[in-house]
Amino acid sequence: MQVMKIKYGEPFRIPRRLGDLFKDVVRIDGVDYVRGAGFTVRDYYALSNLNKILIRLGLVLLPMVTCTICGRDVDCEECEYTDVCRKDVNLCLCRECTYSEDVVDKYRLSVRKRVFKG
Ligand SMILES: [Zn+2]
Repeated sequence: MQVMKIKYGEPFRIPRRLGDLFKDVVRIDGVDYVRGAGFTVRDYYALSNLNKILIRLGLVLLPMVTCTICGRDVDCEECEYTDVCRKDVNLCLCRECTYSEDVVDKYRLSVRKRVFKG
């Protein structure tokens, strides 16, 4: 079984020959294929449905999200809150930021930055 990490909304390539399964994959709500760029997955629900197909080919995709504060990649599978997470987010907090002292202020600042950026 091959495990591959992906990010929601960012294009990636499936390292398998999909053949007839291609049309099943692009029919999944939240999964898109852009010629030349690859596949994108919108959220956790789309990813679960995609994995149901890919597991037959020996491939599992795992989601990575971005820490809102520091921009680091957060590995959902290793998160201690994975059982209670709504999993429909693509921004999160990494472990280090979560347990840093002024996390609330940092979070507020990062949200403000994002809002005023565009
Ligand atoms: Zn962080």
